[in-house]
Amino acid sequence: MSNPANIDRILSDGVAELEKADDAEKIGEVKIHYLGRKGLLSAALKGLKDLSIDERKAFGAAANNAKSELAAKIEGMLSALKPSTKADLDYTLPGQTNRLGRLHPLTRGIKEITEIFRRMGFAVATGPEIETDYYNFGALNFPEDHPARDMQDTFYLSETNGLPPGLLLRTHTSNVQIREFERRKPPLKIIAPGKVYRHEAVSSRAYCVFHQVEGFQVGENISMADMKGALVGFCHEYFSPEIELRFRPSFFPFTEPSAEVDVSCIICDGKGCSVCKYDGWLEILGCGMIDPNVMTAVGYDPEKYTGYAFGMGVERIVMLKRRITDIRLFYENDIRFTRKY
Ligand SMILES: [Zn+2]
Repeated sequence: MSNPANIDRILSDGVAELEKADDAEKIGEVKIHYLGRKGLLSAALKGLKDLSIDERKAFGAAANNAKSELAAKIEGMLSALKPSTKADLDYTLPGQTNRLGRLHPLTRGIKEITEIFRRMGFAVATGPEIETDYYNFGALNFPEDHPARDMQDTFYLSETNGLPPGLLLRTHTSNVQIREFERRKPPLKIIAPGKVYRHEAVSSRAYCVFHQVEGFQVGENISMADMKGALVGFCHEYFSPEIELRFRPSFFPFTEPSAEVDVSCIICDGKGCSVCKYDGWLEILGCGMIDPNVMTAVGYDPEKYTGYAFGMGVERIVMLKRRITDIRLFYENDIRFTRKY
C-alpha cells in the first residue's frame, strides 16, 4: 500500500470520480472520500512509519502532490458552479418588494379624530394614565360612594411597592379637564386623546384598556348649541354628511345637563340591523354642560364661565366606521387584521 504507485492510483481515481461529479454535493462527497481526515490519502499515509527514510521522502512528496492537485481541482469545480453575480442577473425578473409597516388602526383612528377637531379650533392636550382619586373622581364631582370608585370597576395601584396610597389607573380621560383647568384660564377649547382602564370582563364589546377622546370648551356664553355644533360637525366629517344625530338625556357626575349621543346606524341607514340591534341608532358618546361644582373646584367662576365636555370611545367609533365586530382584535397583534384595516 505504502508506495508512490498507490498514491498515483488514488490520484487518478479521484480525478476520474470528480469528472463524473456534476453538482456541489457530489464534489463534496469526493472531497471527503479522498481528502477527509478518514479519507484515502490519510489512510495511505499511515503506512509511512514502516518505510525507510528515502522511501518516506518519495512517498510523502507524492502524497502532498496528489493532495494539492485534488484540492485545486475541487476548488476550481466548486467556484465554476457558483453563478457569477453580474453576467447571470436577469433584469426582467420582478423585483423583491419590501413590505412597509403601517400605523395601527387605532392610532390612525385617533389621528383622524384629532385632525377633525383641530380644524374646528381645538388644541390637543394629554394627561397621566396613573392618577389620584382627586383628578379622576373628586374634582369631577363624583360623590364618595359613587359606584365607579368601587374596586370592581377601577384598578387601584398597590401600595406595597412603595407607591403613595390612593393611586389608580384613570377610568376616563376627563382627568385632563381638571389638569388643564388648573393650568389655564378660559377661554379654552381642548381635546385630549388617551388610554383609559376599567376592570371589565373582556368580551367582543369590552376590554380592560381602551382609548377615549375627551373634548371640552369653556368661555363666556358657551352654550349647549356650541357643543351640538361641534359634535354634529365631527360626526358628519368622520362618518358621513348624511348621518343623523340624536341627543338623549343622561346623567354624568361632572356635567349638568348631560346627554348621550346616538348616530343613525351607518350599516343599515337606520332601517334596523344586527349591529344596531334593530333599533336604527348607535350610541357613540356622552356629553353635557360642565357642572358648576367642577368649575368651582378649579377656581373658575361659574357665574361668568360656562362650558361643555364630551367623551367618546375610540375603539367603538373605529369599529363602527370600519365595521369591525370584535374589540379584542385591536389588541391581538394579528398582522392579517392590522394590514386589512
Ligand atoms: Zn343598523
